[in-house]
Amino acid sequence: MGISALKILKASILFPHAVALIIIPILVDYNRLKAPTGKLYLEQAYLKAGLNKARLYLIENPYCFSGIRHDYEESWFSVIGVPFDGTTSFRPGSRFAPSSIRLFSTEAETISLDDCIDLEKVPVSDLGDVAVTFNVEEVLNRVETVCGELLGDSKIPVLLGGEHTITLGAVRALKPDLLICFDAHFDYRDEYPQGVKISHATVMRRISESLCRVVHVGVRATCREEVEYAHNRRFLTSKQVLEDFSKASEALKSIVEEASRLYVSVDLDVLDPAYAPGVGNPEACGLSTSMLLKLLDCSITDRLVGMDLVELNPLLDFGGSSTAAAVRILFQAIVKTAREKGLV
Ligand code: MN
Ligand code: MN
Repeated sequence: MGISALKILKASILFPHAVALIIIPILVDYNRLKAPTGKLYLEQAYLKAGLNKARLYLIENPYCFSGIRHDYEESWFSVIGVPFDGTTSFRPGSRFAPSSIRLFSTEAETISLDDCIDLEKVPVSDLGDVAVTFNVEEVLNRVETVCGELLGDSKIPVLLGGEHTITLGAVRALKPDLLICFDAHFDYRDEYPQGVKISHATVMRRISESLCRVVHVGVRATCREEVEYAHNRRFLTSKQVLEDFSKASEALKSIVEEASRLYVSVDLDVLDPAYAPGVGNPEACGLSTSMLLKLLDCSITDRLVGMDLVELNPLLDFGGSSTAAAVRILFQAIVKTAREKGLV
């Protein structure tokens, strides 16, 4: 027996709250499905971007990266937030990083005298955030779809995590042959927690198994399983960098020379907690912000196809130093890439 409008009317008079509880979620979902005209999705930035499927996964963020709006068509880089921290094992909160990075970035100066860079000269569009779900694979699918379309439009995706797992979605789309991973950790576990194949602690294992070569820089905290897996794989420890910086940076330069498609992932916990306390899993004896910036300079070549900055947790960043460092890292990485590609 079907439900007629009359029956709904009768029910809504007798049980108004119960009917409202059923009907309102249906209407809300219906509006979501109506994208691109639905209010929840696709304000100007994505409509202008003209992306196909990817735009369905994007939600506008009230803040714009760097505070300077550039149209999608004219941009070389596109910033995408991925506010996902669903597999975080210790201190969750990196889901708030895309908003926090944008807010700080609007106040950060665009010229760095150290490097004679001016971010204003580099067109960067901000397409907002990927609409995340509780399902890791679905989040990765969406990240992959968005990055794939950006690649098709010859844009360089700049992802703001979120946790480190999101890198897997970007790598699936961008197909680099080398990933430089700045991280205190390997993220080489086979399962973490037990039985879980895709999480922030396994992401580089999955990538290195079948997608591309991974070289870690600044790594210093691990477990036996990861040490065994990392055997015969290339990495530079935090200690190697701290004890002989020029040797480490030369080594890094020669590693990236071989890459024809390069991806750079910065897990902010590569920094010492003195510089970046606002991360989920801090580890002592890390790099300084200046050191990381110099190593980034050595890593970025004209073959870079994408980058991300992950694991910033603004809820633990009481003085804002971690977020300020994140912004500076992103600004410098973007400008350095533009310079290497001969765009500025
Ligand atoms: Mn990591
Ligand atoms: Mn880490």
